[in-house]
Amino acid sequence: MGTENEALNKLLSNLPGAYSRHKIVKDKNRKAVDSVILDVNPSFEKLTGFSSKELKGKTMTEIYPSIKNDPYDWFGTFSLASMMGKRIRFEQLFTATQQWLDVTVFSDKPGYFEMIWLDITERVEEHASLSKIVEFSEGFLQSFDRPLNRQQITDIFRNMTGAKIAAYHVYDDAGERFKTVALSGNKEIIKKASTLGLNVSGRQWDHDPVRMNKIKSKTITRFATVKDLSGSVLSRPVVILAEKLFSLGEAVVIKIIKDHMILGDFTLIMPKGVPFKDYAIAEVYTRQLGLAMIQKKTEQQLKTERERLANILDGTRVGTWEWNVQSGSTLFYEGWEEITGYQLNNGSPQNLDTWISLIHPDDLDKRKQALARVFSREDTYYNAEYRMMHKENRWIWVQSRGKVTSWKPDGKPLRMCGTHMDITARKEAELALQASESKHRRLFETMAQGVLHQSADGRIISANPAAEKILGYSFKQLSRKTSLDSDWEAIKEDGSAFPGHEHPPMVALRTGKQVGPLVMGVVHPVSNKYIWLLLTAIPLFESGETTPNQVYTTFTDITEKRISELKLIAEKEKAEAATRAKTQFLANMSHELRTPMNGFMGMIQLLEMTEMTEEQQEYVRYAMHASESLLQVVNDILEFTKLDADKIHLETELVNLEKMAGEIFRIFKAAISQKKINLQLTVDPLLPQTVIGDAFRVRQVLINLLGNAVKFTEEGSVTLRISQKGKIGPDKICILFEVEDTGIGIPPDQTDKIFDRFYMGDDSDSRKYGGTGLGLSISKALVELMNGKMWVESTPGIGSTFYFECIFERDPETLQHTKN
Ligand code: ADP
Repeated sequence: MGTENEALNKLLSNLPGAYSRHKIVKDKNRKAVDSVILDVNPSFEKLTGFSSKELKGKTMTEIYPSIKNDPYDWFGTFSLASMMGKRIRFEQLFTATQQWLDVTVFSDKPGYFEMIWLDITERVEEHASLSKIVEFSEGFLQSFDRPLNRQQITDIFRNMTGAKIAAYHVYDDAGERFKTVALSGNKEIIKKASTLGLNVSGRQWDHDPVRMNKIKSKTITRFATVKDLSGSVLSRPVVILAEKLFSLGEAVVIKIIKDHMILGDFTLIMPKGVPFKDYAIAEVYTRQLGLAMIQKKTEQQLKTERERLANILDGTRVGTWEWNVQSGSTLFYEGWEEITGYQLNNGSPQNLDTWISLIHPDDLDKRKQALARVFSREDTYYNAEYRMMHKENRWIWVQSRGKVTSWKPDGKPLRMCGTHMDITARKEAELALQASESKHRRLFETMAQGVLHQSADGRIISANPAAEKILGYSFKQLSRKTSLDSDWEAIKEDGSAFPGHEHPPMVALRTGKQVGPLVMGVVHPVSNKYIWLLLTAIPLFESGETTPNQVYTTFTDITEKRISELKLIAEKEKAEAATRAKTQFLANMSHELRTPMNGFMGMIQLLEMTEMTEEQQEYVRYAMHASESLLQVVNDILEFTKLDADKIHLETELVNLEKMAGEIFRIFKAAISQKKINLQLTVDPLLPQTVIGDAFRVRQVLINLLGNAVKFTEEGSVTLRISQKGKIGPDKICILFEVEDTGIGIPPDQTDKIFDRFYMGDDSDSRKYGGTGLGLSISKALVELMNGKMWVESTPGIGSTFYFECIFERDPETLQHTKN
């Protein structure tokens, strides 16, 4: 027996299960209520945490007082086994230690029993979790198509974890602010909590860095109490009060994470004394939920995208198509009628051939080539623009774009889809623009004027060939320059420096106004000489802008013109200087001549008074006549030099024109005594008796004209007519003088020349009539000095009429007289 006992003891001490031997204790009703521990093995000591010394002789209720309140009737089972001598095996939660036990009870003697405990807590919990997960996943999968029921999700989660309260939080995109979207728990508690100020249902929470930091590191974070979790957001005293009132235990936050993004969390509050254990299920649950949330979000996004696409297609009047390249079947969708004018379903082209038949024959090749490039994978995208015949019999432009969406294993395209768009308006504008652009470009390239196009900072953007040629720089060289470059070496017309910021384009950019045309000299890089340009700068504005963003400068090379101009000016100045010198010489000489002439004539007059023979007298008369002529010449020249030097000043005095005419006539009467000429004077009755002007000069002109008339007329008449031509303003009057003769007349080709200086008709005439050829030009100059003009009408052999008109001031005294 001893060895047998020894062997048993050895077995028991090495048994992994916890072994114990008990004697049943009954109450007075003979009901088993306790047991005395008689023996235990080391595993039992380990499982219970008591030593065999402490255990032996003690009752179970002494060791585990709560066993009395355990819902499971442990002693009932023990006594049943001991009475019936039957082995009983069961699994049961031992509430005193919160352990799940695999219990085997057996007895060899009534009133006594032995048992073996195996701790199966882990296994049972795992199993429970697993079954919960399976159950939940099934539910989840079923509800996947429906919108997420947040309340339901939260209720399920609370039930699974045994939490008192569960809150479901959804975070914003930044993962910072969150909202309580569902709250699950005893309604009474939630209501009471909200009256305390803990109303969290539907609440939007501000970013709480304290809370965030606390839950940062783990997916599941446990806090011994609610107040440990709550950061600064909730009032601490209220939280503590609530914990007491509702006997709240630990708080657990389980984050819902997908792709490292925090989408939300469940915050659980466990009942006091109940630890959170469902790690596995919480993780699976939240992972599933994360997936579902993303999926719903993606679905929502897809839906919005799809609606957006439909709107875009509709709004842009884009038609879509799908083409099975191999079978040739084609599908055209909405937008197609808008483009072609044909209805999709009544006799309209619905297959590719009909579509192609509408394409302009000239554009078919282009389309084919674009397709070929896509099929050979040279291009990823198909893009072709072609003309099509609209139902209304006009050409429209269509842009077709697409992509091969699937390929056959042999590399041939299988399916293509894409869009059609009516681009007629754009295309027409484009073509018009192209045409005008190429027109302008041609002009730009071929024009003789240089054109520079500069940006706002003065940089040269483009230059035409003429500009390159004139400036001596290639466009490449010009494109590196700006107007502000110091190497331009520009000068103004007067030779002073022309700084860059004053160049016409820069001024145009600053002021927004056209500048020029103005002259600028710039050194040509090849000849190293100044070339002269006439520049105009025109600022360009972007539509709606008031400051120019670009400037065009056009310029012509005026170097040659300027050089010849300068030469001309120089020559003119030289000529003028020479003329001035000559005139001065003439004036001096005439003046010097007059003194001896006077002496000369005085002597002849004295000689006339001496006694002479007839012949001598005749000679003296000739000498006197010649002297007079010479004096006239000298006087004319002197007069002329005065006119030339602007040395004649007009007098303003009262003039009686009629009286003056009478006096002049008296002088001429003597002169014409030898000729058969009738002298006539006609005065306009409207002519005022007196006017204000330079009597001496008017007289000089009249004498000259009448002198010529008499000189060139042998017989007939010489008439002087004076008439009022008109009033100019209230105090001026224009008077016309006409000197008409019946003389030799002037050939038409000479009527202009006779007013030139030193001009005298034919040489033969001049010899016959004498004169200097200065009379008319002096008269004309005098008339012009008096704001008038002179002209002649003449017929050779019939006679001439010289006209001149002058402006006089009216004599206020005679105003009345004129009226009457
Ligand atoms: P001159 O001193 O020679 O008369 P003028 O300047 O007075 O110089 O006249 C220029 C020329 O105009 C004359 O030489 C003459 O040929 C012509 N001429 C001027 N007046 C008359 C006229 N009344 N009839 C014809 N020829 C005239």
